Amino acid sequence: MAARKRRDDVTSRDAYKPPAFLQVDVDGLWTVRQCYGRAVGDTFHTDPVWQQGMREFLALFDALRVKAGFFLVGRDLEVPSKRRMALEIAEAGHEIANHSYTHRIGLTKLKTDALKREIELAHDTIVEAGLPEPVGFRSPGYDVDERVLAVVRAMGYAYDASVLPSAMGPVMRIADAWIARRIQLEKRQFGRTIYVRAPRIPYFPNHHAIWKRLPLGEPGRMMEVPVSTLPPFGLPLTASAVFALGSDRVIELLARRHRRQPLLMLLHGVDLVDCTEPIVFDHRTTAVAGFNLSLEEKRAQLEPVLRYVCDHYHIARACDWVQRYTEPRTTAS
Ligand SMILES: [Zn+2]
Repeated sequence: MAARKRRDDVTSRDAYKPPAFLQVDVDGLWTVRQCYGRAVGDTFHTDPVWQQGMREFLALFDALRVKAGFFLVGRDLEVPSKRRMALEIAEAGHEIANHSYTHRIGLTKLKTDALKREIELAHDTIVEAGLPEPVGFRSPGYDVDERVLAVVRAMGYAYDASVLPSAMGPVMRIADAWIARRIQLEKRQFGRTIYVRAPRIPYFPNHHAIWKRLPLGEPGRMMEVPVSTLPPFGLPLTASAVFALGSDRVIELLARRHRRQPLLMLLHGVDLVDCTEPIVFDHRTTAVAGFNLSLEEKRAQLEPVLRYVCDHYHIARACDWVQRYTEPRTTAS
């Protein structure tokens, strides 16, 4: 009997797959251009991220038979064709989440009123468009602090996914300025260096120091689902990492991760937009973040990594997964 039980335990352990969340920040081309200090032009209305990128992501997730999460920038829903596309994404069963109203990089620099407006307005716009009510938030450029989380928590959200536990921030800021060929002092991104100390797995953040867990026994209501990073340097697990290192190398690094840890892979709408013609940088082609790759080349890099994640993890929507831990306890009356 005892031997039988032990064998069963081993089997169930082998069958266990940790959860993985595939999340797409739907940063329109206008936000990407804005982010690098380029003129927006007509990219708010004529936006390949929505016209091509979203179609490609839907087809890819459909082929992989997984449900992902799409983090929307509220303002985009002012455009009827984008609104229709967002409804299609929701109808396909994917999670709809909040990625602020205007995608301002530097939410933590805003006064509390303006900060609240950025997050609440996006929420209201999403709901008014007929989309499911979001319960997850990610700050543009991973720029998050205690005030941002307080706003999201007060809105009754189940989770935030803005913390990047990486020491690569300063390096990424330099790379970013190099890509843009300018230093944008206004820009605040990649979080604080101390976030490298944040847990690598979902946790209940301390209200006064979001990179720390709540003390044991203190009931948490909102989870932090940190963006996963790759060993050894803590490069964020994004499509940009895949385009820069190649799919084989990323799979090799993924295999080195702790087997049982949940995973959050962060994708961006532009990751499946054809960049044969330059869409952001016209002064030269840049080999960073896939801005020099055709759609076919991007797919060829990204697909094997996503297949690896699908094989080794149980793909879940974060909104469903966190619910088990954040559901308010009903009190007997
Ligand atoms: Zn974004």
